[in-house]
Amino acid sequence: MRRLFVLSALAACGGDGAEGPVGAISAHVTHYDYRFDIESRAAHATVTARVDTEGDCLTLPFRANDFDPATAKIDGKKAVSGTIEPTTMTLCGDGHAAGETITIDADMTIPLETVATSQVGYSITNDAEGNPFYYLVSWVGGCDKFGPCDSRPDQFATYTFHVTHPETLMVSCPGTITETSAIETLCDFDLPGGPTYSTFGVAAYPRAAWPSADKGMWGSVHVTVYDRPGTHITAAIDPAYHAGFVGWMESTFGPYPFGTELRVLTAPTYWSGFEHPGNIVLDDGLAKVVQPAYLHNVQHILDHEIAHMWAGDQTTIADTYDFVWKESMAEYLSFSFEAMMDPPAANKTAAAWKNFAAAAAYFPVPGEHPALFAYYGDVYGAGPMVLFRQLEVLTSRAKVIEALQSVLGRAHAISVDEVIEALQAKTGLDLSAYSAAWIHGSGKPVWPTINTTFTAGAGTSTLAVHQTLAQDRRCKFHVLLGGANPGEVVQVEVDTFRNGIDQEIQLPTPAFAVTVTQLDPFSECLVFPGTLARPIERAHPWRTARGAAADHAAAR
Ligand SMILES: [Zn+2]
Repeated sequence: MRRLFVLSALAACGGDGAEGPVGAISAHVTHYDYRFDIESRAAHATVTARVDTEGDCLTLPFRANDFDPATAKIDGKKAVSGTIEPTTMTLCGDGHAAGETITIDADMTIPLETVATSQVGYSITNDAEGNPFYYLVSWVGGCDKFGPCDSRPDQFATYTFHVTHPETLMVSCPGTITETSAIETLCDFDLPGGPTYSTFGVAAYPRAAWPSADKGMWGSVHVTVYDRPGTHITAAIDPAYHAGFVGWMESTFGPYPFGTELRVLTAPTYWSGFEHPGNIVLDDGLAKVVQPAYLHNVQHILDHEIAHMWAGDQTTIADTYDFVWKESMAEYLSFSFEAMMDPPAANKTAAAWKNFAAAAAYFPVPGEHPALFAYYGDVYGAGPMVLFRQLEVLTSRAKVIEALQSVLGRAHAISVDEVIEALQAKTGLDLSAYSAAWIHGSGKPVWPTINTTFTAGAGTSTLAVHQTLAQDRRCKFHVLLGGANPGEVVQVEVDTFRNGIDQEIQLPTPAFAVTVTQLDPFSECLVFPGTLARPIERAHPWRTARGAAADHAAAR
């Protein structure tokens, strides 16, 4: 439905009653000043943009409720005309030249709705003790659900949130927080700008549920954890380990990008964690997961979210279908630190990636462009494997980190292909065929199946390696030959990237009878044995038990 109001006699958009250039303005938003009330969801947005192409009408994505164009303003004056379409609003006023600033003001109501069973949108979720958690989450392309917002993923802006709320609630959002009164909280996020997907986000929870614990300095950042008693998360956070991680991130990729404070807040969430700049939200159930995918669940997930401060927030995605690189880097960076400090944790992380990837329904960059919500869960395993793990095995971790250094550490938006270019430049590998085979594709990916046959000889034995599926997907991995007794192990390196998919590898005959052959014991590549002990189910690694339960209930 299209609603239109025209204050002037002749023109719906442009010209009459206004001065200066006419036509559609193209602009980029520089600042969002956003007021809303937690309970009523009534909101007011003041959006400031820099004009790139002159004109007198500004169109912005918009999907909130109860907007009346007749009450909207441009530069503090009533708009000459305004229209609303299902996913945009257009306001016209005086003409603006390129380089000028334009400000629009609009009132609306935030819909109390989310994408499927997730918390993308605005939601109220009760924790196990009945505490209500109010959560406003944009995610990629979603900020226009709350007001006029340029929801393109590659845009950076500054933000001021004015939130009115019951006295009992504490509000947390990116930026410097000031409680201007018992019922109003201000979050001021200025330097150096954040992407909308993570920065346009506000959380509120009863104060009693968010007692704070000072975790000291992690690198140059002062960290405070807000955690409800009984979650066991505060106890699972080892400040020395995470201080080491932040220090390593800062020395490798540059200073922590968002000031001097980092808040970590636990709450009943759909996802394990979310990387609001300087304001990480973690699921309150992380410390209680039975058989978690990661060896130290809280430790890994917190480092993943911290890594996003650089990879996702400071450097962001160019397009929705670049989503995979930010998750893969967050995974790979927490894994790389585990490999230095806690090797068993790193081994388990890489094994988890293979499990996540085994039954993926989409390629890391899916050619069919499904809705992000349909495929995002598939990137957490295949992404870090094909973008980083397999390449470090073919070259070295130092070279992969060097490639990441060349793209991180500054505020800009990058695509998956730019990440691959950086990897190609620093590893020296030609990745054109590799990228076409492993990263871009349509339909459900088929990963390589490897059959091995060991034939013992007198002095020299043979390991025959045969790849039966996905023959264009090449990599490097090991095959482990084992005997009946402890210590009877030989590792054989197999490089299909350089040596082809059918090989007869000669090796000195082991001093023991080979009774066990294990494919890829170090989780170096998405190769799988011809016969699996049991089928692997499609995994949603970042969905919590609460999220899974909500999805199952919705599916019934
Ligand atoms: Zn993530």
